[in-house]
Amino acid sequence: MHIGDVSIRGRGAVATSLALALSQQGLRVWLSAAARADPSREDVRAYALNDSSRRLLQRLKVWDALAADAVTPVYDMRVRGDAGHGRLSFASWPQCVDALAWIVDAAELDRVLNAALQFAAHVQRGAEPPPASLTVYAEGKDSASRAAIGAQFERHGYGQSAIAARLTADQPHECVAHQWFRSPDVLALLPFDRPRGGRSFALVWSLPQERATALMQMDASAFEAELQRSGTDLPAGLRLASERSSWPLSIAMADPVCGAGWVLLGDAAHVVHPLAGQGLNLGLGDVQVLADTLAAREPWRSLGDERLLRRYARARAWPVRSMSWLTDALLHGFASQNTWLRELRNRGMGLVDRAVPAKRWLVAQAIDGSNT
Ligand SMILES: Cc1cc2nc3c(=O)[nH]c(=O)nc-3n(C[C@H](O)[C@H](O)[C@H](O)COP(=O)(O)OP(=O)(O)OC[C@H]3O[C@@H](n4cnc5c(N)ncnc54)[C@H](O)[C@@H]3O)c2cc1C
Repeated sequence: MHIGDVSIRGRGAVATSLALALSQQGLRVWLSAAARADPSREDVRAYALNDSSRRLLQRLKVWDALAADAVTPVYDMRVRGDAGHGRLSFASWPQCVDALAWIVDAAELDRVLNAALQFAAHVQRGAEPPPASLTVYAEGKDSASRAAIGAQFERHGYGQSAIAARLTADQPHECVAHQWFRSPDVLALLPFDRPRGGRSFALVWSLPQERATALMQMDASAFEAELQRSGTDLPAGLRLASERSSWPLSIAMADPVCGAGWVLLGDAAHVVHPLAGQGLNLGLGDVQVLADTLAAREPWRSLGDERLLRRYARARAWPVRSMSWLTDALLHGFASQNTWLRELRNRGMGLVDRAVPAKRWLVAQAIDGSNT
């Protein structure tokens, strides 16, 4: 067994993207074997990806290989507070950008990343990792190796689950994303072109655990009725077009994220609430920064040099912590039943909506992904 440069454990979007990025640098990469496709466990999620993630996937020659109906641009976003009070809307045209975000089919992204790896010259896949100068753990939030290498993982459950599914509607989505922040749930409808052209949405509905369990147990028509009743201004005729899946939600951060010869990436290093659609964007941000850090190393420094890896950890500390803090604050701020706080947040949304420069700044941060 020869010694490789980098061994990557994991098989999600973060692990596969990193393998492609390092292979482009000419490094010899070992990556965990691909998961066997299980048709009974279709991933019904659609990721909202920002411009930084899009640019990375373009450089990896993955973006243009995605099927046309697996990527939908978001031109407008409408956010509502409780009972229709408090509104905030964002549009791409005042920012002079192509789109606010892109909604990407999770299963298609996985398929295209794995297909691209077959043409990556320096990537070897297998079950048994050979010794390597650097081991990257991109094993997801339930990483089994994390504790064994001595990293703490402080995890706080939200007592919530997110239900994801594909929906169709009577009216076209017009590339508008909708989000309802209500206490205690957060409902997002993301415009999507699968399965029914411009009349589909990807649903992400975060709810208290008990309510989520009850909704998961309902038959399709009862679920659709609950969904349609759940808010004002929902598109008419929402129908399930896929199975529903649910995920327990938590916030978590690993410490440390690197050591001599190893580094944690993606959800293995940090988990955030999906209300802002930023988990994978953060993970792809990790990929970009680690690839840049390794490429810029001094010729005499080994890939597993702890000082080198600490440069990566320092560069990622602020983007990860600030996003984690922001999603947590948004969730708690909107979950509160306190009348004064509800009034304050509804008025706050109205104020931000009218403060054009502040709104432009906020959107620029989200689009560019410089914080991710
Ligand atoms: C409902 C929902 C909606 C979301 N929406 C968005 C969104 O809109 N935008 C966004 O940016 N993010 C979103 N996210 C977050 C996003 O899904 C995660 O951040 C992202 O999938 C993390 O990718 P990862 O590769 O780090 O981990 P994972 O996707 O968990 O992949 C890790 C994989 O590695 C496997 N594995 C573990 N150990 C090993 C091993 N030793 N060897 C081989 N394989 C191993 C695991 O089984 C798993 O398949 C959402 C999350 C949820 C739950």
